[in-house]
Amino acid sequence: MSLKYSNKINKIRSLALILVFVGIIIMYLGLFFQTSPLFMTLFMIIGFLCIVGSTIVYFWIGMLSTKSVKVICPTCGKETKVLGRVDACMFCDEALTLDKNLEGEAFDENYNKK
Ligand SMILES: [Zn+2]
Repeated sequence: MSLKYSNKINKIRSLALILVFVGIIIMYLGLFFQTSPLFMTLFMIIGFLCIVGSTIVYFWIGMLSTKSVKVICPTCGKETKVLGRVDACMFCDEALTLDKNLEGEAFDENYNKK
């Protein structure tokens, strides 16, 4: 388990990207089986299914994005999307929370300074 917290939407997006590449690689490998139409078709279908899968994942990201909350990151000042109670900033991986009970004391102190 990694200690580094990263943004959930970013994680899913990289998963979709990996699926596209895996699909292309599998379809490419299918070209080595040109002598066997059965294997070539099989590789093409598996590769195609990976690409279809990534399209579904992208669609899923779109649905999740509508459920996420847009916030301005206090660390880098950019607008990021928070999914669930706690999530990380998409740009600087700063841990963010929407739940007041989970906010650290350090954050409260900074907030009350001015
Ligand atoms: Zn940030």
